[in-house]
Amino acid sequence: MNILIAEDEKSVRMMLKAALRKTKLKPIIACDGREAWDILCARDDIRLVLTDWMMPEMDGLSLVKKIRERKSEKYTYIIMLTALATRHNMLDGFAAGADDYVSKPFHISELLVRIRAGERVLKLEDALSEKNEELTNLNKKLVGLARVDALSQIGNRLAFNEEMEKRQAEAARYNRGYAIIMCDIDRFKQYNDTYGHPVGDKLIRLIATTLKEQLRSTDQVFRYGGEEFAVVLPEQDIEGATVVAEKIRAAVEGKQIEHKGSDTDTLTLSLGVAAWQNYGAQERNQTPEQAQEQECEPEQSEDVIKRADNALYEAKQSGRNRVCNA
Ligand code: GH3
Ligand code: MG
Ligand code: MG
Ligand code: MG
Repeated sequence: MNILIAEDEKSVRMMLKAALRKTKLKPIIACDGREAWDILCARDDIRLVLTDWMMPEMDGLSLVKKIRERKSEKYTYIIMLTALATRHNMLDGFAAGADDYVSKPFHISELLVRIRAGERVLKLEDALSEKNEELTNLNKKLVGLARVDALSQIGNRLAFNEEMEKRQAEAARYNRGYAIIMCDIDRFKQYNDTYGHPVGDKLIRLIATTLKEQLRSTDQVFRYGGEEFAVVLPEQDIEGATVVAEKIRAAVEGKQIEHKGSDTDTLTLSLGVAAWQNYGAQERNQTPEQAQEQECEPEQSEDVIKRADNALYEAKQSGRNRVCNA
């Protein structure tokens, strides 16, 4: 470890250098506070500073203050070594940010144990910040994991809720609309009963991949629940979203996945589509200008989800393997 020594008296410098030879510390010498500060600014491998108080150019107290004011990732341990040894001086030194204070004349053995104490503090600090970094990284990983569905490896319900919050905020603030598609596997209970749960799980993964393949990079797909998926399409209107939904439906049907328990012997999806509307249900028959004049509230994301769900229900009721829009 390096130790910066700021001392204007040559004899003291020589004595300190000689004493430090018995330790593993590497002394770096500055003849005044200004020089010490320049060295500290130029390199980032000095964590331990031993400084005199009275020096030309910049005194030790100013040096301590400057060290504490700078933005440094790692802690610098500072020992003041000075002939200014009144209680008042000592308090000033600590108030400026010194960690320890040794008055001159000093015993070299006492100074060395105080330096060793400083090294211990720095080692503890290093261990702590390493642990902190580990925790931060782990936390970041957890934040990601908490939003991914373990089976399908796509976003889960929490991720969907957060995405909808974002879309809704943008829609309300900038009138940037969005659409959603609710997708539900047809007769999936029967599929599980026929082929077993593990095959059912595999199918959920396959559907997630198929959905992703059909989307633009700005669109996102989530596992909404059991065998239901939700697709969020930013800046898409109902017509555009319906086209995407139809593409998804056709892609799944096109895979020709065998499903003995279904009406067609092939596995299919039913889909419900809804696009965000600038104004709530009661004002939908008005023009945006009329609605604005009456200060009507824009539609909430829950309402969009509810309308997409109703459309999905309609798709199921009218025979499955189809797209309905709200
Ligand atoms: P419908 O066409 O009306 O949607 O009928 P359905 O059978 O698909 O709908 P239902 O809600 O009756 O059944 C859904 C099934 O999805 C029941 C449940 O066991 C199954 N399921 C939900 N999550 C999973 C999962 O993670 N893995 C597997 N294998 N099955 C699941
Ligand atoms: Mg001096
Ligand atoms: Mg369902
Ligand atoms: Mg279903």
